[in-house]
Amino acid sequence: MEIKIIKCLNDNYSYIIFNKETLISVVIDPSEADPIIHEINKNKFNLKYILNTHHHYDHVGGNEKLKEKYNCKIVGFEKDKNRIPGIDIGLNDNQTWKNELFECKILHIPGHTSGHICIYIKELNALFTGDTLFSLGCGRIFEGTYDEMYKSLNKLKKFPKNTKIYCGHEYTKKNSDFCFSIDKENSKLLNKIKKIKKDIQNGNPTIPTILSDEIECNIFLRTDNLKIQKQIGVNSNNPIETFTKLRDLKDNF
Ligand code: ZN
Ligand code: FE
Repeated sequence: MEIKIIKCLNDNYSYIIFNKETLISVVIDPSEADPIIHEINKNKFNLKYILNTHHHYDHVGGNEKLKEKYNCKIVGFEKDKNRIPGIDIGLNDNQTWKNELFECKILHIPGHTSGHICIYIKELNALFTGDTLFSLGCGRIFEGTYDEMYKSLNKLKKFPKNTKIYCGHEYTKKNSDFCFSIDKENSKLLNKIKKIKKDIQNGNPTIPTILSDEIECNIFLRTDNLKIQKQIGVNSNNPIETFTKLRDLKDNF
């Protein structure tokens, strides 16, 4: 089983998970149909399912066209079934869901939207985080509260440290600029930035990132760091206040 990264729209990533012998495939967050159709036809994949992390158009935009063309089933969060186009199968928090290709664990991680989920495939050591956790950043809080987003990110931190993170957007360079503006003395961050620059220069995605890198370098996962708190003027050891301040600073960065 392998993962193909598909660039969509301006800066989105969709992912095709496939078995190269059986050609059975599953797509995660098809932003738009055409780049996915191109890849499926080129490889003669048999598309069985679409999984959506959340209902935003740049994650579900290809749902209906792909369903019509390949007769695949659409899978998403049960409580978002009225706003995920073409949904057939609703999943719940903490559910394990099995299909012809893999077994995955679903966690509800609200904050960016109220119905956002992540998809963890243990066999691939892969976590699909949509617009909740990005490399060196996190999603904007559209429907949830700061507290919800903070808790959701903490859930993600608990996956095995070597988990590969596949997120919804290539925002890494801009995110790295923000992390660096506050966390200048973090040598791990400086190394990560070097690698990011190299990837971008070579025209490669900066994705997947590794959870351990994010825990060490992503400022939104380092809200318990006293130096960072001091740097942004949070006095007490208060991670949620730190998270809130960082999110607001990033919104205006
Ligand atoms: Zn989104
Ligand atoms: Fe998005």
